[in-house]
Amino acid sequence: MMTGRSSNNHHLTDLFRKDRVAPNNTIPNQLIELVNQLGESVTIESLLNNHTFLPLYRPFLKRHEFEVLMQNIYDGQYKKAFMKLGLTARGVNKEIECLRICPLCVIEDKLFSGVPYLHRIHQVSIVSVCVKHNIVLTNIAAANKDSYKYIGDLNCSIYEEQVLDSKKNSVVDQRINRTIWQILNLPFSKEVSLETILEKYNECLWLKGYLTPKGKVRLQLLVDDMTKFYSNTTLSKQYFEFHRSLSDEWIGRVLRGDRQMRPEEHIFTIAFLATDFYSLLNVEESENVALGNPPWPCLNPACCNFLRSVIWNAAIRKNSDEVIATFECKCGFKYLKHSNSKNAVNKYAYDRVIKYGDVWQRRLEFYITHTDLPIRCIARSLNCDSKTINHHIGELKL
Ligand SMILES: [Zn+2]
Ligand SMILES: [Zn+2]
Repeated sequence: MMTGRSSNNHHLTDLFRKDRVAPNNTIPNQLIELVNQLGESVTIESLLNNHTFLPLYRPFLKRHEFEVLMQNIYDGQYKKAFMKLGLTARGVNKEIECLRICPLCVIEDKLFSGVPYLHRIHQVSIVSVCVKHNIVLTNIAAANKDSYKYIGDLNCSIYEEQVLDSKKNSVVDQRINRTIWQILNLPFSKEVSLETILEKYNECLWLKGYLTPKGKVRLQLLVDDMTKFYSNTTLSKQYFEFHRSLSDEWIGRVLRGDRQMRPEEHIFTIAFLATDFYSLLNVEESENVALGNPPWPCLNPACCNFLRSVIWNAAIRKNSDEVIATFECKCGFKYLKHSNSKNAVNKYAYDRVIKYGDVWQRRLEFYITHTDLPIRCIARSLNCDSKTINHHIGELKL
């Protein structure tokens, strides 16, 4: 926050009209005071939706539970609101004792918005890698102490071991991260409640053969398959096992909509059953259509619409036995997919990049001129191989 003030107490008075405010990184509070100070462009909804963990709980609450929660928040009863639903005990950032940053995000934030800031998604326990940069997150401070430290003053060098090779950040972990990212970025006006989610689970279970003809869940088969699915991953495995050890029956409880379940348990279920959150919501349509339905996502990590479904038109041509489609975002990034390839059913995978585009090239230029990152690291951040980076460096005469 740039208030032009020198001390923490002054900042707090500017923001909340009081000089003592206890920070809490699970339960939002003082929102009414903050909105009053920040003026009309900021609303309680926009703060909750863009800057708190509330969106991660919302799809897994019943419609009326969410309405009561919002009413309590408007009445300033934050603790009561969250305690009543057991959300404090189900904190999505519970297992981490630190605040975390991605060093590359800090560098980019400084350059593109002037100020580095804490990214919400990096504070979620089951996320250990920056979704955008494929870099292992760095712990910076104990969550409830030292909270006023300025991130810009921290040492943000990137260590070799933080740059993941593609094998470590497995497809499974990518599904988990993408699901979390999608839930956090769902517009506030889009009402998705537990009722909808349970219906979608049922459709997926049916499509995947986990329901008996009478509609009963084949629970043992499901538990075995999910365990196998998560045992191949490195990052999410420990969390999955942790949740499993709490109760063998948790998957059954998730599917019944038990209100004690944590968002992580739903996220594990979604990543397994439906690939990710958007696919879960569109489950009927996307199963049978080759290459899926519009809109398609931009897959350029340098684009502000990365992973957002913003491409409405695809250029489609038919070959003898397959469809070949190209998708181009406004940022200039263009990718190609074959309906016969293994990537066809995954909206977030492509067969080949046709054109990287201006935005991507500018980001590369930035990395080369403003950082001393190794080529391998830049390649991972821009989702390509080192050869491609070297080729573009030659072409752009960097
Ligand atoms: Zn990052
Ligand atoms: Zn784009």
